[in-house]
Amino acid sequence: MSKPTLGSTRQGFIPPFILERIAAHDEVHLQGCAQRTLEVDHYFRARRAPDIVANMDMPEGSPRPGQAARYIYSANYQEVLPGTLVREEGQDESGDPTVDEAYRWLGVTYRFFWEAFERNSIDDQGLPLLGTVHYGQDYENAFWNGAQMVFGDGDGELFNRFTAALDVVGHELAHGVIEREAGLVYTYQSGALNESLADVFGSLTKQYHLGQTAAEADWLIGAELFTERVQGRALRSMAAPGTAYDDPILGKDPQPAHMDDFVETEEDNGGVHINSGIPNHAFYLAAMALDGYAWQTCGFVWYDTLHDSRLTQESDFATFASLTVDNASRRFGTESQEAIAIRDAWQAVGVIA
Ligand SMILES: [Zn+2]
Repeated sequence: MSKPTLGSTRQGFIPPFILERIAAHDEVHLQGCAQRTLEVDHYFRARRAPDIVANMDMPEGSPRPGQAARYIYSANYQEVLPGTLVREEGQDESGDPTVDEAYRWLGVTYRFFWEAFERNSIDDQGLPLLGTVHYGQDYENAFWNGAQMVFGDGDGELFNRFTAALDVVGHELAHGVIEREAGLVYTYQSGALNESLADVFGSLTKQYHLGQTAAEADWLIGAELFTERVQGRALRSMAAPGTAYDDPILGKDPQPAHMDDFVETEEDNGGVHINSGIPNHAFYLAAMALDGYAWQTCGFVWYDTLHDSRLTQESDFATFASLTVDNASRRFGTESQEAIAIRDAWQAVGVIA
């Protein structure tokens, strides 16, 4: 198979500001896990995805659109990629729950993009979906490196194994889709939009899998990741940004829900995981106003907007917002309830007047 050309934005699912808090904590074991995770993340951020892809022996994609091509590897607790192949498309369960979760969630995410939007994998050309589990020791993150997903087992004290959360897989694969379609620059508002779109499609993947309407969904991101020890429900909440966790070690969820509380910062690539709360909340408000399955209403509009040639790499919230209103009018009609709900939602979070 030819080597795909992919972009260069590689970020773990857990943002650095959370890991830095843990690394500054006085428990030696937790300190060590977070420190090591930050080092691994830094290493992967410094490498360009096309180099990773060029150096990998990529297996074949699926010859048939609508059929995923999954390959799950184990790193056997080392920091090696991709590791040993342990389960490939069509094979029976391996018996290792981590391997089988990765296989299952990659399949669900593939099926969501195919059935909701007729998208054939990340590149829309059947790119094979590779996942490596048991990566490193106590590694507290998961990421897509341009060629494959990588899952840590967590430290067992604050974080569970990362294959536990379907929306983590949906979020990371969505970054691949976003990069190919819009290439939103991963800093400031365009970066926060990039993050928000990954959350939107991650959450929709989960809602689709569970057959949930907007009103039935929990609108949480990473609800399965925290152990009992953490005072928090999830990493982020699209329904109530800023309330997902408030914990002595991790700190408090820093997300705003309205432009009045927009956070000006140089940290976190200019607040990409912080200000994403604002467009996340707009999506939630529109989906709730419309109810029904969100991937059939505003989810479709967000996907259309991702393809819109007027969306540039440095688009800000206001540009994205007005494009969603326009795309809702095109798909559903000018004064359709979809167009109205979406415009109202962006007004409610202060992005458009
Ligand atoms: Zn992300």
